[in-house]
Amino acid sequence: MSSEIRERVREFLAAHPPAEVDRLDFLRAQFDAGLAWVHFPVGLGGLGAPRALQAVVDAELAAAGAPDNDPRRIGIGLGMAAPTILRYGTAEQQHRWLRPLWTGEEVWCQLFSEPGAGSDLAALATRAVLDEDGVWTVDGQKVWTSSAHTARWAILIARTDPSVPKHQGISYFVCDMTDPGVEVRPLRQITGEAEFNEVFLTGVRIPDTDRLGAVGEGWRVAQTTLNNERVAIGGQATPREGGLIGIVAETWRARPELRTAELHQRLLQHWVDAEVLRLTGERLRQQLAAGQPGPEGAGGKLGFARLAQQLTGFEVELLAEEGLGYDDWTLRRPELVDFNGREAGYRYLRAKGNSIEGGTSEILRNIIAERVLGLPPEPRTDKDVPWKELSR
Ligand SMILES: Cc1cc2nc3c(=O)[nH]c(=O)nc-3n(C[C@H](O)[C@H](O)[C@H](O)COP(=O)(O)OP(=O)(O)OC[C@H]3O[C@@H](n4cnc5c(N)ncnc54)[C@H](O)[C@@H]3O)c2cc1C
Repeated sequence: MSSEIRERVREFLAAHPPAEVDRLDFLRAQFDAGLAWVHFPVGLGGLGAPRALQAVVDAELAAAGAPDNDPRRIGIGLGMAAPTILRYGTAEQQHRWLRPLWTGEEVWCQLFSEPGAGSDLAALATRAVLDEDGVWTVDGQKVWTSSAHTARWAILIARTDPSVPKHQGISYFVCDMTDPGVEVRPLRQITGEAEFNEVFLTGVRIPDTDRLGAVGEGWRVAQTTLNNERVAIGGQATPREGGLIGIVAETWRARPELRTAELHQRLLQHWVDAEVLRLTGERLRQQLAAGQPGPEGAGGKLGFARLAQQLTGFEVELLAEEGLGYDDWTLRRPELVDFNGREAGYRYLRAKGNSIEGGTSEILRNIIAERVLGLPPEPRTDKDVPWKELSR
């Protein structure tokens, strides 16, 4: 199978030499040839092949100097919107959205969290009301929306029925970020830059044809997004060299004057932890090959956040005053979203958010306890109460 795929890539490269073809034309052609994400169906950028074969495709393309779709810039589209559209979208929706999402022509963001609904996401208050012309009007406020300032589309969850318990009255939409009712205001974070935003939705119009899944089933649809999000975030630590542990080890090798026996012990412990996480991630990916990620992805994300914070803290300590060097991080420079390519001080501060974004570590522990290990659930007194009767 892998030799067949390799042959297919070589034929594609012969017909589209990277040095001669415009970047966007190359990416569009790659999608149309089914080499974008091989596990997606034919016609939607894939070949219906095992997911693991994508690594073979990517290696062949990279060796030929082919352009990539700048995955860091479009992570929410690739990691969260795409699997949700694939699972719940109609054929028309899939054909409209997936190709420009994958090529990076259209950036996506995620309008989930609200000022009063983060960990308790199902309590969300953004309201969507359907009129008789089949158009929803959406009013509310979202917060911590990464990339809202560059996004063309958003995945959005909103309350469509306040009279039923909170998980049941939610629907899932795709929101056009160019609608005049969408206002995006930057939020500055601990690093000084503003990767994320507040988003105010005032009379935003969404055609019913831009709904994903049935009315009232938004919570179920959102689980697909959230499970994929944890895998997307948690997978970042995996490579040995080139990953975070590799960067730390590189500094260690290059700067013998910084070493102490105590730091050596700690580095070895971090190496072991990183290796355990890498192998666990590999196992998760094998499970993924058989279908959608389940709650098990929470473990990978939890481990990633802990390790990223430990490693970035270790780096700053190792580099001493050099690690505290400060650059101007206040600009919105999309090319700088490369976490691994930034300074140690930046990485240390940015990693603080790793245990919050995509579900806090406390919430992930609850998910693992209840849905993976089958331990007794947290008492939840509000789950059968109509949302409109909850005190907020
Ligand atoms: C860098 C970054 C990027 C983000 N990007 C996006 C985005 O693009 N789109 C989006 O929708 N959201 C985004 N978020 C928001 C993120 O999903 C929320 O911040 C997160 O879910 C926590 O919600 P909260 O901030 O409201 O905290 P809260 O829910 O108020 O939690 C506060 C504290 O209480 C703890 N806590 C709450 N409930 C429980 C419980 N039941 N048991 C134990 N402890 C509990 C939490 O763990 C936390 O420590 C982003 C966040 C960050 C940091």
